[in-house]
Amino acid sequence: MRILLVEDDLMIGESLRQGLRGEGFAVDWVQDGRSAELAMETTPYTLVLLDLGLPKKDGLTVLRDWRQRGLTVPVLILTARDAVPDRVRGLDNGADDYLVKPFDLTELLARIRALLRRREGRVRELIESGALRLDPVTRAVEYRGQPVALSAREFAVLRALLETPGAVLSREQLEDRLYGWGEEVESNAVEVHVHHLRRKLGSEVIRTVRGVGYRLGETS
Ligand code: CA
Repeated sequence: MRILLVEDDLMIGESLRQGLRGEGFAVDWVQDGRSAELAMETTPYTLVLLDLGLPKKDGLTVLRDWRQRGLTVPVLILTARDAVPDRVRGLDNGADDYLVKPFDLTELLARIRALLRRREGRVRELIESGALRLDPVTRAVEYRGQPVALSAREFAVLRALLETPGAVLSREQLEDRLYGWGEEVESNAVEVHVHHLRRKLGSEVIRTVRGVGYRLGETS
């Protein structure tokens, strides 16, 4: 899950980046409207957190341009503009949701989960395959009725594979979901996470497709 965070307030931006990373999201943080546009052209994002009052290009204009170009990525507006007309304009210009600052990280995380659920067409929060069950809220994992303790990144790898059953994800695709810009990625980080997941769940759960990547294996 890779999130684009567009926020020019350094304190808010830094605390959001830390909070979201702590939840296992990869976060790219930019501080003006033009950089947001550039980031969007080069990186596939799962979700955008967009401040409205931004240098170089206003958040509302950035959003309107994205929607006019047909970009469907979920956008959650973060704004101090608590006036009703601003919120209405944001939603009318293609935002999926908004939060008025100051807000609580737990509420932001709940809204992110709701947006991702909607995007994936799920009404229930659990992600399941066979006897494997993931709860993105509590990050609890259950396999064959037994709880399994995973780190935030192990959880993120498993979630990525579960959300695209049948698809092969390359190491680079998984790294993209796990790490934001400027985060140091050990060259074998993904292999290590997969190794730990297999040790905890059984080797059949993740299949290696030689020379390509990984896909979800047997979960019954
Ligand atoms: Ca701002």
